[in-house]
Amino acid sequence: MSDRIIFRHALLPQGWAANVAISFAAGRITQIETGIEGGAGIALPGMPNLHSHSFQRAMAGRAEHRGAGTDSFWTWRELMYKLAWSLDPEDVQAIATLAFTEMLEAGFTAVAEFHYLHHAPDGTPYDDIAEMATRIAAAAAAAGIELLLLPVFYAHSGFGGRPPAEGQRRFINSLDSYARLHERCQALAATGCAPHSLRAATREEITALNHLNGAAPFHIHIAEQTAEIEACLAFSGARPVEYLLANAPVSANWCLVHATHITAQEAAAMAKSQAVAGLCPITEANLGDGIFPAQHFTGAFGIGSDSNILIDAARELQMLEYSQRLAQRQRNVMATDTTRSTATALYQNALAGGAQAIGLPAGLAIGAPASFVTIAGETPEDALADALFTARAPALRDVWVRGKRLVEAGQHIHARPARAAFEAILRKRL
Ligand code: ZN
Repeated sequence: MSDRIIFRHALLPQGWAANVAISFAAGRITQIETGIEGGAGIALPGMPNLHSHSFQRAMAGRAEHRGAGTDSFWTWRELMYKLAWSLDPEDVQAIATLAFTEMLEAGFTAVAEFHYLHHAPDGTPYDDIAEMATRIAAAAAAAGIELLLLPVFYAHSGFGGRPPAEGQRRFINSLDSYARLHERCQALAATGCAPHSLRAATREEITALNHLNGAAPFHIHIAEQTAEIEACLAFSGARPVEYLLANAPVSANWCLVHATHITAQEAAAMAKSQAVAGLCPITEANLGDGIFPAQHFTGAFGIGSDSNILIDAARELQMLEYSQRLAQRQRNVMATDTTRSTATALYQNALAGGAQAIGLPAGLAIGAPASFVTIAGETPEDALADALFTARAPALRDVWVRGKRLVEAGQHIHARPARAAFEAILRKRL
């Protein structure tokens, strides 16, 4: 069975086009025609969310008061660990279902779930080592979002293969147990591989994981915090991105998540490697991480909702642009010489980088997933600028994933039960 929708405007890989008919069958785009009158609305390709820890959605807004002394990423992490210790598989599934439902409402049609909460609260693996991953996959299926499962390898608490801390017991695997987990995940969803960070995985382990993973997406947290830079320098004499590029075959299937604290030289070398910069501007602002030095980076980037403090593709792009404006004291920083509309340039570049990081074809093109969103407005460039920068009215209307309409007039078709189940978890756990 084939469907066809006609839009007044659509953002195609080559730019904005008018009177566009998109045909699709079995979830994929089969034909794109222009010059077809009688359509309505403005269509954009759905944005990939290249970095999420869905369970952290449960603590969104609960860490916004100052403790004794100075609050930092590391005090936030203590709170996050406390939440992580308390959740059982049903909780994880309900929280993820809500987070994925909200992602769809916010314009994300695919998500890379950087999943590290593997074991029972006492640290023993569940009977099925992929119990928690199974819950993530079930949540993605219930919400209808496209999932890239990134089972996380976590073995150490610091550089040089330090033994893990007690609070990390639910995350820990050996290379052997990880291989079993990874194999099980492949039966559940599209699967990549993710060493948590240079703190949590040694160079030798990263090499072994890269071998196990093959050409699938390979993601790692890196250079998010200045303390990590100092620890890496003390351990190796090199900065994290510098160290990684010198010691691992970083290439186009890699996503370096954050890469906040990089020098101009590291930025140039990273672009040359063709790895995607996985930027999470709202979380990086919320955690006080720092600002990505976009002025030095010419490579691919995408956006991720990371801690899920606020799930919104448009506001991630807005935060990305505004943080650059504040840092560089300029305007329209992320526009390019070929795409002078800042909103369009941000959207198209984050789309391409996000798709590369998730391992999906990018944009509205034949063979790509029929996953798109519609926004309100008349003139497409202005409508997208309004969606990103003004949002006078809720900009997002409908969202389709693989040819199925899941969000209608801004609301997910299963939003109510997802929210009710989530609120029951909050009452129980927080
Ligand atoms: Zn993260």
